Amino acid sequence: MAQLLEGKPLAEKIKAEVKIEVDRLKQETGKTPHLTGVLVGENKASEIYLRTKEKTAQSLGINSEILRLSATLSQSELIARIQALNETDDLDGILVQLPLPANFQPNEVIEAISPAKDVDGFHPLNLGRLLMNEVGLRPCTPAGVVELLKHYGVKLEGQEVVIIGRSLIVGKPLAAMLTNENATVTICHSRTRDLDRVASRADILVAALGRPAFIRPEFIREGAVVVDVGINYVADRDLVTSLFGADPKRQQDLEEKGYTIIGDVHPQAKEKAAWLTPVPGGIGPLTVAMLMRNTLLAFKRRRALS
Ligand code: NAP
Repeated sequence: MAQLLEGKPLAEKIKAEVKIEVDRLKQETGKTPHLTGVLVGENKASEIYLRTKEKTAQSLGINSEILRLSATLSQSELIARIQALNETDDLDGILVQLPLPANFQPNEVIEAISPAKDVDGFHPLNLGRLLMNEVGLRPCTPAGVVELLKHYGVKLEGQEVVIIGRSLIVGKPLAAMLTNENATVTICHSRTRDLDRVASRADILVAALGRPAFIRPEFIREGAVVVDVGINYVADRDLVTSLFGADPKRQQDLEEKGYTIIGDVHPQAKEKAAWLTPVPGGIGPLTVAMLMRNTLLAFKRRRALS
């Protein structure tokens, strides 16, 4: 039966450390880190994510607000708004919540953010620094995965890691981070042949594909460490019952919210994995904590503070 790699306590510890540092720097310099989240158009999940980030930042003493922009804006108008944020001196972190509405070119928008304020770590300069293994702003979710594995003492060097999912947000930067940690990394995606066979080679298996409960026990080597990055909002009562039986927490979610959050890993994985991240309560809280750490880092680097 797998032991849980709990993300919440580690996220709380990281946030407490950020708060201490923010307080110290405020006292020493009279300045406060400042994070702006940009929400374009209306998207319920994005609204929830951004509000969580805003509230968390505020609870750590970081100035933070959400800039809500209309989806009717043109690409060049959106870029002009970002350039204005780049030029706002007392602003340290800019986060454009993805996905953007379909009429925008996300890569061009990301490239418009000043690399020094790119707290999501998606700008090509920051991704390049990651490839070069130089200090910089790292994408938050994969940074959270590495932080969690290290916190629990999971050995990375020489280990066989398989990552399912090759997005720029999770899979690709995580592959670079784990390669930097001397792991042997394979990235899989929707065109990978014999996915279950490839996955079952892994000492550490990371699921980041966005398919509820897709990773069944046959994908998992006995005794593997399994990291479930997936966040899937599932409203299908029959599916939830088939996966979790009469689990009262899941049934309560369905009653109260109309959905429950399910990872990419099947609940039966716990029979084969040695370690497994819960969903919710695994990587999600760490993503927010790493964003706070990035905001503090951006603030310190922009103002040459230590
Ligand atoms: P994404 O951009 O949709 O990428 C999904 C990746 O999975 C793609 O590379 C895709 O392959 C691959 N994939 C999809 N179906 C597959 C299949 N049947 N077999 C093998 N590979 C498959 O998603 P994302 O943004 O990386 O997010 C992935 C998951 O992580 C989602 O559930 C998301 O909600 C979650 N997430 C969680 C956090 C957090 O804070 N915990 C943060 C970000 C994302 P192709 O490239 O071939 O299409």
